Amino acid sequence: MSYITIDRDKCKACYLCVNECPKKLIKISKTKNSLGNNIVEFCDEKGECLGCAMCAMRCPDLAIEEVYKG
Ligand code: SF4
Ligand code: SF4
Repeated sequence: MSYITIDRDKCKACYLCVNECPKKLIKISKTKNSLGNNIVEFCDEKGECLGCAMCAMRCPDLAIEEVYKG
C-alpha cells in the first residue's frame, strides 16, 4: 500500500496538494502548526493512494516528504 508523509511545520496552507491528488486523499485539518497554519492531513482509510507523487511534486514548500510505493 502506498502512502505519503507530510512535514507539518513546512506546510504553508496553500492547499495545492488538496486539489492535485487524483484520489482526493489530502484534507484540510483543523490542526495548526507552529506557523499558525491549518495543515493538511493524509486520509486514506481504504488504501487508495497510487504512489503517484503528484502531491509531492505540486507542493512549493517541499512539505510532502516521502511517497512510498506499495
Ligand atoms: S501543497 Fe504543501 S504547503 Fe501547500 S497545503 Fe499541501 S503540503 Fe501544505
Ligand atoms: S501519491 Fe498520488 S494518490 Fe497518493 S496522496 Fe499523493 S497525489 Fe494522492
